[in-house]
Amino acid sequence: MPEPGTAGNTPAGEGLAARDRGLLWHPYAALDGPAPCTVQAAEGVTLTLVTPEGQTVEAIDGMASWWCAVHGYRNPELDRAAVDQITQFSHVMFGGLTHRPAVELAELLVEVTPPELQHVFFADSGSVSVEVALKLAVQCQAARGRPERRRILTVRGGYHGDTTGAMSVCDPEGGMHAEFSGLVAEQLFVAPPPAAATPDGSVWASDDAAVQQWLADVRTTAREHREELAGIIVEPVLQGAGGMRTYDPRCLRVLRELADELDLVFIVDEIATGFGRTGKWFASEWAGVVPDVMCVGKALTGGYMSLAAVLVSEAVGAVITASEQRALMHGPTFMANPLACAVALESVRLLRESWQEDVARLETALRELLPVAADLSVVKDVRVIGGVGVVEFHEAPDPALLTRTALEQGVWFRPFGRLLYTMPPYVCTDEEVRTIAYALLRAAQEVELTSTGRGAAPHAVDAPLQDGAGA
Ligand SMILES: *Cc1c(COP(=O)(O)O)cnc(C)c1O
Repeated sequence: MPEPGTAGNTPAGEGLAARDRGLLWHPYAALDGPAPCTVQAAEGVTLTLVTPEGQTVEAIDGMASWWCAVHGYRNPELDRAAVDQITQFSHVMFGGLTHRPAVELAELLVEVTPPELQHVFFADSGSVSVEVALKLAVQCQAARGRPERRRILTVRGGYHGDTTGAMSVCDPEGGMHAEFSGLVAEQLFVAPPPAAATPDGSVWASDDAAVQQWLADVRTTAREHREELAGIIVEPVLQGAGGMRTYDPRCLRVLRELADELDLVFIVDEIATGFGRTGKWFASEWAGVVPDVMCVGKALTGGYMSLAAVLVSEAVGAVITASEQRALMHGPTFMANPLACAVALESVRLLRESWQEDVARLETALRELLPVAADLSVVKDVRVIGGVGVVEFHEAPDPALLTRTALEQGVWFRPFGRLLYTMPPYVCTDEEVRTIAYALLRAAQEVELTSTGRGAAPHAVDAPLQDGAGA
C-alpha cells in the first residue's frame, strides 16, 4: 500500500481537485472550501485517492460511501447485473409501463420485509422516499375523513434527508429550520429518546428512569396533539447523521403503540439501518415492531446508483385505494429506473445470503478494538452497534487532522462535528476491519496529542466547513 509521499503524482487525477474548487459544491461545503481528494479507482473495499498535494494513496473505505457500498466497489455480480440490464434498456418511464427488474425487485422486497408490508413505491433517493411516506400519511388521514390531521410527530436528533419535506422532520437545529422557516413545515418534536447501548451486542443498557420519563412525556404530547397528527416517523434504534446515537428499543415500541392508539401512520426510516447494518436485518426488529410504512435506500443498490423504496402495509394501501384520488400522489421521472432496480435485485440477493456472517465479523472486530479509545481524555463516548462504530469527542476536532491521520494509516473517513465513525463495507475481511479500527484509534490519539500541546492547535489549519446533517 503506497504511503503518502512514496507514490508519485498521477496524470489522470492531475488538476481535477483544482478544477473542482470554485466550480462544484460538495455536501454542506463552501465553493472555496478545502480541495477534495480525487478518486482515481475503486475496487473491492479500496479507494485509490489522489490527495490535493498530488500524492496517490490507497485507502480502505471506512464509510462505505455513506452506508451504501456494502458489497465493495466493482463487485462482479453487481457489475454483471448492470451490464446485462444496460444491454437491454437503461430507462423507461414507469407511467403506464412496467418491466422485469421493477417487478422482481418489488417481489423480493415484499418477501424480505415483514409480511404486513405488501406494496412498494420506488423513489429516486432516500429523501424522496421520505417525502412520499409523509405525503402518504397525510393522504391516508384525508381518506379516512380527517383532512385536518396533517402534522408529523418525530424525535429531535433525527435525520431523514435534505429535501424540504424530509428536512421538516430532521432535528430542527441540525436541519436548519430557522434558516428555512416558511419553507419547512412545522412538525411536532419530542425529546430524543434517551441514549442506550448494547454493550454485549444483544442486551440493551439504559437509564430506566430516563426511559420511563421519556415514554410518559411522549404519550402525553402525542395524545394532546392527536387531532392534528397524521403520522410518526423515526429512525429505528440508531439515529444516523443526526448524531450516530443509539436508543432503547422500548421507545420505538411505545411509538408503535401510540400510532395504533391514535390512528397514526407509523413510518420507520430504515434508509441507513436496513439490510443488516445494526446487527438485525431491519433495525425495527430490535423492538419487534412492524411499521405501516418503511423507507429503504442506501445499501439497496450497493451504492451503484440512487434508488429507494417505500414499503407500505396492505391496510394502508387499501386506505389509499379507497381514497378520492385512489393513487399515491407522486411519480418521479426516474421512478423504478430499470438499471437501478436490476442492480438492487442482485444487491438484495447477495445481502440476504451473507449479511449475518458479514456484520458479525465487523462487529466483533469493532467491539474488540474501538473501546480502547475511551481511555483518551478527549473522547466522550465509544459505541458499537452491528457494523457501525462511533467515537464521540468532547469537542469537535479538526476534521482535516482526523482525515489526514487516517489516510496515513490507509483508511478513508469523513468525520463530522464531534464524531469520527465507521460503517465498513460488509465484504471487509477481519484484517481490513482491524485496519479501519486501528486508523480510527490512531486518529483519536492524534487529537489527544494535539490537544495536550503537541503539534498544531485544532482549527489552526484551513478547517473545512463540517457537514451539517448531510452525512
Ligand atoms: C441518508 C438518509 C436519508 C436520505 O437519503 P438520500 O438518498 O441521501 O436522499 C434519509 N434518512 C436516513 C436515515 C438517511 O440515513
